[in-house]
Amino acid sequence: MPQRVSDPECLFCRIVAGEIPADKLYEDDELLAFRDVNPQAPLHALIIPKTHIATLNDATAGQAALLGRLLVVATEIAVEQGFAEAGYRTVINCNGDGGQSVYHIHLHLLAGRRLAWPPG
Ligand code: AMP
Repeated sequence: MPQRVSDPECLFCRIVAGEIPADKLYEDDELLAFRDVNPQAPLHALIIPKTHIATLNDATAGQAALLGRLLVVATEIAVEQGFAEAGYRTVINCNGDGGQSVYHIHLHLLAGRRLAWPPG
């Protein structure tokens, strides 16, 4: 099993470590999903790799399967929570112009209301 990277200063690494509580929706060896503390839709989940990857720019080709699993788990949660048919949105924000505020890769899963496009 590849070694997991953790940053003690990182909020989401601290959630992975159990130091900060989260409302968990899914967990396995590689990934964790939990509800966003400031939800922008009736369902707003964050799906993260347990290993610390700061931004999408920092992900490597060797992590392609891990990144793909973020989407697979997002879909599983959308199905489980009953939003698959109506629809949902997945988003990864990267760096300042992308609106990233927590520097540990996370996939947003938003569902339960009609989402506008283009995003603001
Ligand atoms: P982003 O702006 O794409 O980096 O998204 C970061 C998200 O993390 C925001 O939607 C925040 O509301 C959310 N967030 C920040 N702190 C926590 C926390 N302790 N638990 C759950 N979600 C959080």
